[in-house]
Amino acid sequence: MRIANSNSRATLILGPSGAERLLDIATASAGRFGPELPSLYQDWAAFTAWASEHRPHTENARTATLDRAVLGAPSPMPRQVFAVGLNYRAHASESGFDAPTDLPPIFTKYVSSFTGPDTEVALPDGGNVDWEIELVVIIGKAGFEIDVSNAWDHVAGLTAGQDISERVSQLRGPAPQFGLGKSFPGFSPQGPWLVTPDEFDNPDDLELGCALDGEELQKGRTGELIFSVPALIAALSRTVTLYPGDVIFTGTPAGVGVGRDPQRFVQPDQRLDSWVEGIGQLHQHFRAATDRK
Ligand code: ZN
Repeated sequence: MRIANSNSRATLILGPSGAERLLDIATASAGRFGPELPSLYQDWAAFTAWASEHRPHTENARTATLDRAVLGAPSPMPRQVFAVGLNYRAHASESGFDAPTDLPPIFTKYVSSFTGPDTEVALPDGGNVDWEIELVVIIGKAGFEIDVSNAWDHVAGLTAGQDISERVSQLRGPAPQFGLGKSFPGFSPQGPWLVTPDEFDNPDDLELGCALDGEELQKGRTGELIFSVPALIAALSRTVTLYPGDVIFTGTPAGVGVGRDPQRFVQPDQRLDSWVEGIGQLHQHFRAATDRK
């Protein structure tokens, strides 16, 4: 199943890529589920049971065409957002750190930075804005001390995310400011939709990457994650309870701008295209802060 946040309504994506048809979940379920995404995650098991029983399809149903401009983040109001640092060996190395062993660095991205997949992003004045393509996990079942062996049962689905990062404010001061440096407006684009784990041949090994103005800058596979999706869920839930709708940015592969020699950062009017295999693409266009509309 693919589920989008279209105009703040939970929407099933039906049909092949390029010819998607959108089915409003609240309408199709006669008001039982939806209309907004957060309530869907609260009732995820019942929703997936309903969806598999009714097999919603486009025939005899009122469907709409896809308009990417009105897509929002698949989980727009999570109770908690976790982001993971140094979770690929080559990225830890380019960042000048040893690979983590017991637990990778965990921080947050504030929800005010969340957007859908296709956006305009203002570059903060005096900042160095960098790219980080990441696989994003959305939790579908609450849990504490979740075992690795059944961690996938707690996942509603996967989406693509950019952990856009402003390195000056992230690294300034006596200790790093990861949360704020990665949470300027529009710094957490996600989408284009949630894809349930059963849709993948192997949800533990997906290619992901990004390109700036068409030049490929990152390309990796989630099979190279030091802490896999189940390992992250087990590790996080040793400390905190995970709730339906919670969002986990799982870390970025090598190729970020701050790790390059010479360093490179996003310039005004550049376009960042990002993708995760089996999920889809994100498109960001950057402009100078002074061009604010
Ligand atoms: Zn990141």
